Amino acid sequence: MFDALPGDLNRARRASALAHITEHEVDVLVIGGGVTGAGVALDAATRGLSVALVEARDLASGTSGFSSKLVHGGLRYLAQGDVGLAWESAVEREALMRRIAPHLVRPRAFLVPRFAHGPEQSAPRGPLDGWLGDALTETGVRIADGLRSLSGMPARVLPRPKRVSAREARLLAPTLRERGLRGGLVYWDGTVEDDARLVVALARTAARHGARVVTGQRVVRATDREAWLADGTRLRARAVVNATGVWAGDLAPGVDLAPSRGTHLVFRASVFGDPRAVVTAPVPGHFGRYVFVLPQENGLCYLGLTDEPAPGADGYEPGVPEGDIDFLLRTASESLAVPLTRADVLGAFSGLRPLIRAVPRGHGAERPSAAVSRQHLVLDTPGAPITVTGGKLTVYRRMAEDAVDAAVRRFGEDPRHRPAVTKRVPLLGSPGTEPGARAAVSARERPSPGAAGTASARVAAARWPGADPDREVARRLARVYGWEAERVADLAAADPELAEEVAPGAGVTLAELAFGILAEGADTAADLLERRTRLALDPELARATEAAASALVDRLA
Ligand SMILES: Cc1cc2nc3c(=O)[nH]c(=O)nc-3n(C[C@H](O)[C@H](O)[C@H](O)COP(=O)(O)OP(=O)(O)OC[C@H]3O[C@@H](n4cnc5c(N)ncnc54)[C@H](O)[C@@H]3O)c2cc1C
Repeated sequence: MFDALPGDLNRARRASALAHITEHEVDVLVIGGGVTGAGVALDAATRGLSVALVEARDLASGTSGFSSKLVHGGLRYLAQGDVGLAWESAVEREALMRRIAPHLVRPRAFLVPRFAHGPEQSAPRGPLDGWLGDALTETGVRIADGLRSLSGMPARVLPRPKRVSAREARLLAPTLRERGLRGGLVYWDGTVEDDARLVVALARTAARHGARVVTGQRVVRATDREAWLADGTRLRARAVVNATGVWAGDLAPGVDLAPSRGTHLVFRASVFGDPRAVVTAPVPGHFGRYVFVLPQENGLCYLGLTDEPAPGADGYEPGVPEGDIDFLLRTASESLAVPLTRADVLGAFSGLRPLIRAVPRGHGAERPSAAVSRQHLVLDTPGAPITVTGGKLTVYRRMAEDAVDAAVRRFGEDPRHRPAVTKRVPLLGSPGTEPGARAAVSARERPSPGAAGTASARVAAARWPGADPDREVARRLARVYGWEAERVADLAAADPELAEEVAPGAGVTLAELAFGILAEGADTAADLLERRTRLALDPELARATEAAASALVDRLA
């Protein structure tokens, strides 16, 4: 019924991977299956090293599954005066959208509305609210566009910023407040279809290149060359990499993280009039800080996000305090015609940013930081694992490259003789990863971001055997799975029951859940509903689909 391919992750492959790494030493053992760890595994495997990745729970069950899903060109860093970080983000964005994952990372319009200030309108609360703030924002957006161009990203993919009239602004965001609306600025940036799916694609691509991926196994102790699982199993490697995000300090004492909680609220998109752009609403009195209304492809909108110190919070479930909800509703409502209320909120999720407060001195930190830092850290301490943490989803590839360079140095090799190749390695589902395809895609063949634009994905999705009068299923499969839509369609063709929706109105078919179990490493109903799909974000759908997801896990896992 299902032809397994290299790179598929499932219970049987997990068991054989665990058996192998229990018996054999690998070159690089990566602890943590978030975007950073999965990126390290792919980088190391594609440099020809033997690799194991061990994750305590499910892939992307930590911070990487709770992000805003922006692959951004660093506008926020420009506001903070950090041009270097903004440049790094712009370069990584170009690689992700054009070569690495064009089916998952795509352009999105962002609208910055401009309001008149005065007694009849909202009053400025800080020196940079009002026209001066608008002018500075536009300057930042134009500099970011310059970085776009320098990074090699064509304007046909990410168009140049432009001013729009009040009328055009309301066409993009119909619920914007009309009173005082003078117009807006539209710029373009990258968004990922789903951050958890990006992590799964990275881990699967690493597996396709030979990495052994083991989920559901917590490492309780690690040294530079060994790691122990909870049941006492000892794993051996020439280098151990600690990529455990906000948990990094557990395996690398001395790494001092200052976790910061980011909360998003979930709404039906209709609450915002089905916006066609990400809407940015300024946080009064804080220049360069915004909350975002983020339209998703599944008919939902997220409103985020907060940035609150959260010492000691649980990285898997940091909680959503009332204060976060009030802040988001209040801030966004200032820009809307009708204020949001709690009754509009469908759900909420939060995650912890692994911000770096301090690292031990004299331990080879490549980017030491005395203050809380949004940069990443690679810490190479003799006798301990190499720790890589901090950073952003957008720059995961760069973080992975630095961590694997450190591992290669530990082997006594010069990383220049074994360089990273991941800028040119497409993730599974992208053009160039079809069975029999040439691995690298030439510049001429390079697709526009968005799988719907890639021919192979369109053909694959067209094979969908179920009823699909508006081609909605075909379009979604192409967007989410790239050419692997073909494999999802084949599952439904072999078993027509799988062509059905998981529950009426779910917008997800049973074939997609089956693919999650057979090829994407999902092992429980929660893995399927919370990360391979986002059905769990809508409490009603979560209830309606739980039994079907559990039954499929029992049948197929
Ligand atoms: C709310 C929010 C929004 C964000 N939005 C964006 C955005 O839009 N764009 C962007 O670029 N960045 C964004 N970020 C930042 C980005 O999400 C993080 O920097 C990134 O996801 C961190 O990934 P990670 O792999 O280092 O950590 P994690 O994703 O937390 O992964 C660590 C993994 O290690 C595992 N683990 C922990 N301990 C062990 C152990 N002992 N043994 C085995 N496994 C273990 C965990 O289970 C977890 O899966 C956002 C962050 C937050 C909090």
